[in-house]
Amino acid sequence: MTRPSWRLAEFALLAMLGASSEAAALISSAPFPNRRPWRYREMVHVSNVDTAPVSVSAATISDAIAARDAANGAARPFAAMSEQRVLVLKVATTAFLFADADSSGELDFEEVLTMMRHVDMTSDATSIRHEVQQIFASFGLQDDERLSYEQFVILLTLIDEQTAFFRGLHTFANDAVKIGVQDMLHGVGGHAASQPNVVCDDLSCHILDDGSQAWRQSVEAAFSLVDRDDGGSICKAELLAAVAKYPLISQLMRLPVGLSEAEKIHHMEKLYDAIDVDGNDDICEHEWLSFFCRDRQTTNCVSEPTAWDPARPECAAITGFIFDCDGTLYQPSGLIPGALDALTWLEREAHPFVMLSNTGAKPNAAVDAKLARLGCTPDGAPLPAGRCYTAAEAQVTFMLSPGQLPPGSKLLLLAPDERCVEMLRERDGELFDSWDLRRSMDVDTAKEWSVHAEARLRWEVAHAAGEAAGAPPPKVAVVFFHDGALGRDSSWSYDLFEAMTILLTFGAEFIYTADDPTNPSIDPRYPGKVFPQPGPGMFVEMLKKAMPPLSHARCFCSGKGGNVGRRFMIDRAIEMLKEQGHSGERDKIMIVGDRFDTDMRAGVLAGIQTCLLESGAHTLAVASEFPTDIPSFTCPSIADLAP
Ligand SMILES: [Mg+2]
Repeated sequence: MTRPSWRLAEFALLAMLGASSEAAALISSAPFPNRRPWRYREMVHVSNVDTAPVSVSAATISDAIAARDAANGAARPFAAMSEQRVLVLKVATTAFLFADADSSGELDFEEVLTMMRHVDMTSDATSIRHEVQQIFASFGLQDDERLSYEQFVILLTLIDEQTAFFRGLHTFANDAVKIGVQDMLHGVGGHAASQPNVVCDDLSCHILDDGSQAWRQSVEAAFSLVDRDDGGSICKAELLAAVAKYPLISQLMRLPVGLSEAEKIHHMEKLYDAIDVDGNDDICEHEWLSFFCRDRQTTNCVSEPTAWDPARPECAAITGFIFDCDGTLYQPSGLIPGALDALTWLEREAHPFVMLSNTGAKPNAAVDAKLARLGCTPDGAPLPAGRCYTAAEAQVTFMLSPGQLPPGSKLLLLAPDERCVEMLRERDGELFDSWDLRRSMDVDTAKEWSVHAEARLRWEVAHAAGEAAGAPPPKVAVVFFHDGALGRDSSWSYDLFEAMTILLTFGAEFIYTADDPTNPSIDPRYPGKVFPQPGPGMFVEMLKKAMPPLSHARCFCSGKGGNVGRRFMIDRAIEMLKEQGHSGERDKIMIVGDRFDTDMRAGVLAGIQTCLLESGAHTLAVASEFPTDIPSFTCPSIADLAP
């Protein structure tokens, strides 16, 4: 196959697949095996390829600019950074990851040279080599030394815009953003009306497959990337290696996150056999392309949710149901009409069901009681045991899981009352009593704790490299067990945010229950209106924004849609279905909810079916905001679930 532009297509593929924060997190974490967070602490914060402005706060960068200006005898204020440079800086991480062919976390001379050859189609080999030599010399590096990511970003910040290197990278940045994000993603939800509504029932369906040339190029690029030996075909080992090495290939393969090694291999083998249609244990380029770029005229491969209709065979195949609560079963004014009928129908059909609430402040019993009080059961009888599970319970299990928060850990735990603290104490009193647990914190204490957090992080990095000596310093963590409001023990204040920012910056883990940004409320003075109340997700986002790049490996969300939510919430729900007699087969289980970013995402990540009810927070009209969380089915409200 011809290769001259495959790097361009790779950029586009990465940009497309990196469009969700989930994917971006995977992409930016995995290729750095040792995840050295502190090397990135004082660096340019390059976030959200398509929208966010680049902010440069780092002392490293400003020092470098000041040194450059002093040397030139002319000050060029940072505010004057050109649009071109801002764009190039936005793709700095992407460019670095692709240039770093051996995933060492640094670029050697040959890697920079190779990148230059790909981005600069006009210069001759001699002048390219000369420019790379100049780049290395500008950092005082010999040809056999390596360029760190920090130096790479400084290079992009300072390098003359007339150099071939800058111009080449700018072209790529432009193409990646243009092809990758802006145009492609608008087609996912926005063009829904003009596209046929066909069934997504095939492993090859990808939400970004709009049949365009850009998609095809990306799929070709992926083939090149996987075919490491350039043999023109892909064997199983190559595919497994590529999935392990490149998060973007995992994304293309729709490999659910959090699978065990055995489950991953099983998933990949099934997929491999589906692509390898002639069964000769070799995927050729034709097989690869026909799998991922189906002819839209003859096959169904546009990923669009299907309208739920219990009479359809694919709907009738669902025999286990996982319900979200707020916006799905109830709303601030009470039970959503039809909820009781739907649950009664499930009981009659002997279809197991469970309710999952992303509340971070309540144990299961509190949700049980609320559902009964609202009339989810005939005569307000209590729900049978084992039907409800909350994010707070999931997080308790996460925190007490082996090695997660060892004895002696130091925790800043924010909760409105004692319920979640009691849950922890009841489940493991000995471990709980060993923790240094605070319910609020001032800035001075946070500064003291930052020393422990930093020491712990340093120890972990050394330990991962097999170099740790001595006893591990205590782990430090910020823990949220709230739905927004805090109680009498603590309240939101500027000082509290400053304290948390300090802890999280210096290496504390961030443990929180859910990403839900707001919770609905009503006011009788404004009939028919639903007002938002701050939820945990908006506080989480604010704090994450302040964390150094590549810190997401230290963030743990156990609720629906969270990065450990599959294991601690959805897997638990599936176990609860099995306790009611369900087989546990994931294609027969469906999560029903009202949010793309929690309910649908949880289902997508767990490899189960998903159904968006348009009775709560989100409707299909906003689907393009959540391109990786597209549901299998949609339904106006729970009243329409039963026949
Ligand atoms: Mg909800």
